[in-house]
Order: sequence, then C-alpha cells, then structure tokens
Amino acid sequence: MTPRTIPREKIPWYPTINFDACTGDQECLNFCKNDVFTWDAVESHPIVERPYNCAVGCDACSQVCPAQAITFPSPEDLRQTLRRLRAEAIAGGNGTG
Ligand code: SF4
Repeated sequence: MTPRTIPREKIPWYPTINFDACTGDQECLNFCKNDVFTWDAVESHPIVERPYNCAVGCDACSQVCPAQAITFPSPEDLRQTLRRLRAEAIAGGNGTG
C-alpha cells in the first residue's frame, strides 16, 4: 500500500530566521502569500508563526531577503526526509498517528 500523502506536520520544511542578520525590513512578510510570517512589534522582526503553511520545497522568501537572514534545510536533506517518511508510512500504516 502506498500512502497518498504525508501529514504536513511531519515534514520539517519551513524558514528559519537568523535574528542577528535580520534588519527588520519586512520583505519576507510582504512577500509570502501563505501567511507563514507574522510581525513581532516588540522585537521588530518577523516570526515564523505558521511554519506548516510553508509550501514544501519553496524557499523563495530566502531569496528576497536582502540580509540573507532566512535559511531552509538543503534540498538533499528534504529528499532524504521525504524518502524516509514515505518508507515509514508504507511499513507502518497510514502515517497519521
Ligand atoms: S526579509 Fe530578511 S531582513 Fe527583512 S524582515 Fe525578513 S528576515 Fe528580516
């Protein structure tokens, strides 16, 4: 049996912000249409509030950040993670537990 989908919460793909590099220009906040970021008005920087809204494989916000403050796992890490999760789901059931 092949699982149709892997639950999004099992896939560790989302942006990480280096707050030492972030200048607080809000480019990422304005750019992302998936509502991943919110603004922390106290600290004056964005927060990755809804990481699992991030489209798996998309790293476009890291490319618009002029401070290069946003990172993602490598594509190879993502491939390995998806391979492992698919194998686990096939071996162990439906992957929803
Ligand atoms: S685009 Fe980069 S520098 Fe600007 S707020 Fe986002 S993380 Fe910070």
